[in-house]
Amino acid sequence: MSDKYDVIVIGGGPAGYHAAIRAAQLGLKTACIDAWAGRDGKAALGGTCLNVGCIPSKALLDSSKQFHNLTHSFKDHGISATNAAIDVKAMVGRKEKIVRQFTSGVALLFKGNKITSYFGSGKLLKDRQVEITSADGTKQTIAATNVILASGSVPIELPFAKFDNKRIVDNAGALEFDAVPKRLGVIGAGVIGLELGSVWRRLGAEVTILEALPDFLGTADRDVAKVAAREFAKQGLDIKLGAKVSKAEIKGDTVEVTYADAKGEQKIVVDKLLVAVGRRAYTKDLLGDGIGVKIDERGRFDVDEHCWTGVEGVWAVGDCVRGAMLAHKGFEEGMAVAELIAGKAGHVNYDTIPWVIYTEPEVAWAGKTEEELKASNIPYKTGSFPFAAVGRAVAMNETAGQVKVIAHAETDRILGVHMVGPGVSELIAEAVVAMEFHGSAEDLARIVHAHPTLSEAVHEAALSVDKRAIHKAN
Ligand code: FAD
Ligand code: NAD
Repeated sequence: MSDKYDVIVIGGGPAGYHAAIRAAQLGLKTACIDAWAGRDGKAALGGTCLNVGCIPSKALLDSSKQFHNLTHSFKDHGISATNAAIDVKAMVGRKEKIVRQFTSGVALLFKGNKITSYFGSGKLLKDRQVEITSADGTKQTIAATNVILASGSVPIELPFAKFDNKRIVDNAGALEFDAVPKRLGVIGAGVIGLELGSVWRRLGAEVTILEALPDFLGTADRDVAKVAAREFAKQGLDIKLGAKVSKAEIKGDTVEVTYADAKGEQKIVVDKLLVAVGRRAYTKDLLGDGIGVKIDERGRFDVDEHCWTGVEGVWAVGDCVRGAMLAHKGFEEGMAVAELIAGKAGHVNYDTIPWVIYTEPEVAWAGKTEEELKASNIPYKTGSFPFAAVGRAVAMNETAGQVKVIAHAETDRILGVHMVGPGVSELIAEAVVAMEFHGSAEDLARIVHAHPTLSEAVHEAALSVDKRAIHKAN
């Protein structure tokens, strides 16, 4: 057995690599084991986020947005282009290059921080020993005072629509089509369905999204969801709510999807089918016998508010534990645990984690919705402001959407901020800072916002909480 480590991290995705780097920064002798192998079989750090998640999806969202603007909205600016064409292979190649830049960047950061990197599957044994099985089957065992489980999540597969990665694909498959499918079916109108559905719709695919639930974007603010649904429909995303899919059959080059809605049984035929019905924590084969780490009711490692599993020196962070399956939630958990191990005051404020959906318009929120506040009997007041009245948004020709601020009816403390519109993935940061510092709507209203910027929508929405927005009737 090699020397003992202070920290071994199992999983080199965003939660794991943040934990490893922070631990190493704090002077802890650290190793990270990662099992990721792309479809080409090559090992790469960065997990879902860098390889087949956040970064590649945003690369394609950006490419497809450029193409869509060229073919649809540039003419409003007096710009015309003939023979606009999309080279899907070049677009996907650019995405691959970005992925490589970031995954090899993590490897360099490991080297720079003197983190020992192992490629293979890690399994936690007794006394915080970890067995590593490499791709060729060879095994070795290392040990540490602390082990952080950061094994992430995998897509949920539907029993009647098994991934063949040609016709019926998961997120990874939908990021590497070699041509624009004529008809793309999507099961699930969640974050992946909307983002990847948008990518291929903007490039010309007919996109039909089948969502089992009757409400669109059930966890978002109702006003925000309404605007988003209207704008997505205008873009040609055909979102069918209350659609219960029962079958997906590959027939030659097509997939026939059967679903039932209020009108009875329906069928659609598509060229590709993306299944995006959520992800499940990955915990398989990570624990040897008698370790004592519990698995919760949803198959995740059971942890307390400090990501401790209840077993001495064993922690778990990121998608494999309770809470939002978001990269930045995992980053913060990984760093907080490393700090706790080093005797510092690591902490994550789960109440202010921002959510962003990178569609057009973008959707972003932090804190509570009106529905949640009503259910908890918390008195509140709201103020909202439309981007149609924001000079910068009009100049950009991107006027759909609004910002809504929700504050406590008596204390004025900001309880939630909900946005749909241009650039809201960036604007939400201001709301998060204000909430993190226990700010009030009055605080936001008194902060000077540059003119003309999109951030004026946040300012005016905060003013509107007390009915004193300037550029709209209150
Ligand atoms: P993962 O990224 O899943 O990494 C876990 C790692 O552990 C993997 O490398 C895996 O191979 C490894 N592993 C598993 N078991 C073992 C083992 N036994 N031994 C060694 N290694 C092991 N989130 C956002 O915040 N913003 C976004 O814009 C966003 N976009 C997304 C787009 C898509 C298409 C998808 C699928 C997800 C997106 N997410 C986004 C979610 C984000 O990717 C995840 O929340 C994040 O990757 C979770 O990080 P993690 O480190 O917990 O797990
Ligand atoms: P999701 O939970 O966001 O959405 C899944 C959707 O599928 C839900 O609306 C659900 O009601 C629906 N559904 C479930 N079963 C169904 C069925 N049988 N038929 C029809 N609809 C069904 O999950 P996702 O889109 O797969 O994404 C997984 C997770 O990845 C997200 O929850 C999020 O945590 C993360 N993610 C984040 C981002 C981002 O931050 N921008 C982007 C992509 C993914």
